[in-house]
Amino acid sequence: MDRANRPLLVDKFNRQVNYVRLSVTDRCDFRCVYCMAEEMTFVPRSEVLTLEEISLLGKAFVNLGVNKIRLTGGEPLVRRNVMSLVKNLGQLEGLDELVLTTNGSQLEKYAGQLHRYGVKRINISLDSLDPVKFREITRSGDLSRVLRGIDCAIAAGFEKIKINAVILNGRNEHEILDLVKFIRHKNIDIAFIEEMPLGNIIEHNRALSFCSNDEIKTLIEQHYPLIDTTENTGGPSHYYRMEDSVSRIGFISPHSHNFCPLCNRVRVTAEGRLLLCLGNEHSIDLRAILRAKPGQIKPLEEAIIQAMDLKPEQHHFDLEQQPDIVRFMNMTGG
Ligand code: SAM
Ligand code: SF4
Repeated sequence: MDRANRPLLVDKFNRQVNYVRLSVTDRCDFRCVYCMAEEMTFVPRSEVLTLEEISLLGKAFVNLGVNKIRLTGGEPLVRRNVMSLVKNLGQLEGLDELVLTTNGSQLEKYAGQLHRYGVKRINISLDSLDPVKFREITRSGDLSRVLRGIDCAIAAGFEKIKINAVILNGRNEHEILDLVKFIRHKNIDIAFIEEMPLGNIIEHNRALSFCSNDEIKTLIEQHYPLIDTTENTGGPSHYYRMEDSVSRIGFISPHSHNFCPLCNRVRVTAEGRLLLCLGNEHSIDLRAILRAKPGQIKPLEEAIIQAMDLKPEQHHFDLEQQPDIVRFMNMTGG
């Protein structure tokens, strides 16, 4: 179908885009080994979108039929005044879901406010319950602070809280069951994410440390029988339930299960690059438009509509090869 005959945000493969992930900063207080190098060079501040520019972008996407926005990064909650953005987006008519992915380090301070400003669900990353391992994986994180943050999020009353865990062989694979016990105890969900080859890291060999979700699932099933569900969040996670718990266990498996045919999302990096696919470089520069025509929403909307034609059919990840995608996950907005 050519562009003129298609609904607004539908790509050439007939997939409708109704979900956008906005990276509000590439900076972070952690340096997780699978996400960043120990020494990082961040984008100069002048090249990062202002909070007002991100707000306008959010509005443009919602005008075009997007009904779900996820704020991510880097660590979204380390951006100064980020709550003003959350408040603005939370008031957008037509936006059904405003959600956030965070490492949890700032939740003690912000959980209540996020909930009041309209964030319905949050994902909190947690790969280890052992303070020493946690510090090793994050290179700087304080586990007790993150655990207090999780408790504050539970107390704040979000509809759903999900832990994101990346399991690496030789590092935290022995903690899979502890993480499952933890989420069962807290009545929250968990998703296991397979490591993706985004950015060049030298800290570990991604092919050697790769732990597949099939292995993780087999292990969990020996202790907690898993009931398959058709529940999904319109995304790549496949969810299972347990008979004796309200918690759900999800698996995000970019390697073993290709979820591209169902892809409904695009991403905007902290410097305003609209990425049409996590695993490809197809993109357009929205910052150039924002800065050439400050405050104008129409040119942005037109550019976003045109960009749909660039969305590639699928990604190809190969852990044995040097990554094709040299940007780190903190740039991409996980
Ligand atoms: N800082 C926040 C956090 O950690 O939740 C939000 C941004 S972080 C990039 C989003 C998610 O991406 C985290 O759950 C993290 O575990 C995941 N992630 C980062 N690098 C990854 C990689 N190379 N492969 C798979 N997941 C990755
Ligand atoms: Fe920071 Fe999140 Fe990346 Fe960890 S995964 S370094 S917390 S952006």
